[in-house]
Amino acid sequence: MNVIEIETKNREEMIDITDRVREIADGKNGMMLIYTFHTTTGIMINEAESGLMRDMMQKLSDIVPRGAGYMHDRIDSNADAHMKASLIGNSVLIPVENGRLLLGTWQRILFLEFDGPRRRKVYVRVYEAEKG
Ligand code: ZN
Repeated sequence: MNVIEIETKNREEMIDITDRVREIADGKNGMMLIYTFHTTTGIMINEAESGLMRDMMQKLSDIVPRGAGYMHDRIDSNADAHMKASLIGNSVLIPVENGRLLLGTWQRILFLEFDGPRRRKVYVRVYEAEKG
């Protein structure tokens, strides 16, 4: 099982994991699934430009402010993190041809932490195409 471990350093953080998953595609043809096991993290494909990454995190906080009277905060004070993760989604699929991830020029695979710092696990697998 291919699992990537990610140690996040802040409560909220966006980490480019493209280079770490790329090696798992080695020699394969099919679809790569990248899937996070956690309810307060997300995975998306977008541009890893530092200003844009901050803009996105800021906009998510504008949409879902922390501690705005959520029911779930009575249990563990991270309702905003769950909702931000749900807005982003917990997986992406990427076509793989001859071991190469078919990403556009500016596309990167981004892991989003919303309730760190924590040790996180992301599952990566290429589901190979039928031959012939
Ligand atoms: Zn929670």
